[in-house]
Amino acid sequence: MDSKFYHGNIEPKDIARALHGHFNRNNLNTKEFGAENRIIVQIATHINAVSGGDTAIPVTIEKVPDGISVQIGKQSVLGVAASLGLSALATFRNPLNLLSRIDDIAQDIENLQLKEDIWQIIEQVAQHHSATMELSENLRTIPCQYCRCANPVSESSCIACGAPLGDIQPTTCQGCGFVVQHSSTLCPNCGAKIRR
Ligand SMILES: [Zn+2]
Ligand SMILES: [Zn+2]
Repeated sequence: MDSKFYHGNIEPKDIARALHGHFNRNNLNTKEFGAENRIIVQIATHINAVSGGDTAIPVTIEKVPDGISVQIGKQSVLGVAASLGLSALATFRNPLNLLSRIDDIAQDIENLQLKEDIWQIIEQVAQHHSATMELSENLRTIPCQYCRCANPVSESSCIACGAPLGDIQPTTCQGCGFVVQHSSTLCPNCGAKIRR
């Protein structure tokens, strides 16, 4: 799972702050790019000095209408470069040497479970802010398909005309929090089956 959605009263900076607090120590370091609505926290790790230097994982946190989306990028220098839109390779003294080692490095990071650790911190922050992968009720309304009246998402029938809203109620993927149509069977973000 590489991207998740948390709905509720949570800001990108809440996640960024926690990532800095947790990962900016020992043989890891963090850097921040972007601004309020889109923050990239790059968590770098010094795997093996001989291999050419650090490699890093970018975590992109973006504001969405009812919460945030969090995306953890590829575990390689190429992933970092693509995600940041600049040449991260230029920062390495011997990039060719490193390129040949990317698979190894990616494996090293996998072994260290850095990605799992990052998700764990993000989950903790989300929980602390009561943000969940379920649809937040306060920010989302759905129009009745008969009278166009805006209804709170939790209503099963239209508050104005009483028509059933069941079919048009949006829902979220239980795996990643992506908002999907009620009729969806597969999540467009992670491919999981939508259960209700
Ligand atoms: Zn209605
Ligand atoms: Zn999903």
